[in-house]
Amino acid sequence: MTELILIGAGHAHAFVLEAFAEHPEPGLKITLITPQARAPYSGRVPAWLAGECDFSDITIDFEWLASRAQARLILDSVTEISAGRRQLKLAGGDWIGFDLASINIGATLKTPVFKASGPQVLSMRPLEALQTRWQALLGDMSRWPAGQPRRILAVGGGAAGCETLLSIQARFRAERPDIDWQGTLLGDTPRPLSTAGKLPATLLRHELKKANIRWVGNRRACAVIDGGVEDNLGHHHPADLILWATGAQGHDWLKESDIVLDERGFIPVESTLAVRDHAALFAAGDCARFDPPLPNAGVYAVRMGPVLAANLRRACRGETLKDWRPPRRVLSLVGTGQARAIASRGVLGVAGRWVWRWKRRIDRRFIARFNPGTPR
Ligand SMILES: Cc1cc2nc3c(=O)[nH]c(=O)nc-3n(C[C@H](O)[C@H](O)[C@H](O)COP(=O)(O)OP(=O)(O)OC[C@H]3O[C@@H](n4cnc5c(N)ncnc54)[C@H](O)[C@@H]3O)c2cc1C
Repeated sequence: MTELILIGAGHAHAFVLEAFAEHPEPGLKITLITPQARAPYSGRVPAWLAGECDFSDITIDFEWLASRAQARLILDSVTEISAGRRQLKLAGGDWIGFDLASINIGATLKTPVFKASGPQVLSMRPLEALQTRWQALLGDMSRWPAGQPRRILAVGGGAAGCETLLSIQARFRAERPDIDWQGTLLGDTPRPLSTAGKLPATLLRHELKKANIRWVGNRRACAVIDGGVEDNLGHHHPADLILWATGAQGHDWLKESDIVLDERGFIPVESTLAVRDHAALFAAGDCARFDPPLPNAGVYAVRMGPVLAANLRRACRGETLKDWRPPRRVLSLVGTGQARAIASRGVLGVAGRWVWRWKRRIDRRFIARFNPGTPR
């Protein structure tokens, strides 16, 4: 028997389990290790934050996927990998051996320095930890006194920061119209969504303006202080609530492993998704560092899924692996609150309610694919 261990219930592993369920590989024993049996799908996060659906509606049912693929499911976290010994350690302390392993554990972000207990901070990664924090915040929000201004400061001018601030502020305004909500978006680039084309970035600026959200650019938030955030120039930005959505970085525990990581803690992979210098290890999604680097977006984890499945099958048969070529441009759909979204592909961009409905259709179809009994 060949022992294949899938570490993490990331988007790419949903495709791997589906592929081995549809075409079982004789002599292959699969194990999935994940702390939760249901994993959130990033595309549906703004719909959930906006109150359009429940958390369970935005998750992928990995227990079902594993049982279809006749894979063993271990509900635990991996805390160390020894690629040399082909073993991994669980949080519970046990070591497990493998012939092949694939890592799809997403990313985390650099947490702020707290110089004071400061205002409430909602960290946007890891996504699976957001559920409890968000529920607690909704509870707090319902108790905030009427008639006073409340300042929401989102740190991070990328898609996650823009999307979450717009969605959350729209929801808070709808649920607590008796509060004067004031939104600010702070980022270290000259404009928000700086990697997007000119037209999508202009559309976003328009949405921010409509929502009365102020953009503060070229500033790097450094610390949470009493009453707000301090930036790299020593300026203070007042806030009652901070949404922390800065750039992604690798999970800290990977540093305990014998894998050489890049400067952001990601795992360098070949174009076959095999980990560099470790033929028995694969990595995909946010935790993998492709060459040239790709943006940390769920869409790439999704595109890598079928290729990862095919190469894991080839590896277990001892066949030559195939290269993956990332798409030059991908469709990006960013929710902007109030049931609106921006679609962009390269320099092209459109915005509106119909874009949100389109996004919802695409995302629901994706969720339904990996959940039994969900209508597409
Ligand atoms: C607020 C927000 C909104 C976003 N919106 C979008 C969007 O609209 N479109 C888009 O393309 N991207 C979006 N992104 C980016 C997207 O979330 C990520 O790029 C995507 O989830 C990465 O997928 P993945 O498969 O690499 O891992 P993930 O989907 O993050 O899954 C990783 C899995 O690994 C598990 N895991 C973690 N550590 C361990 C461990 N030690 N042992 C075992 N298992 C572990 C986790 O529990 C999780 O189930 C958004 C990000 C944020 C923060």
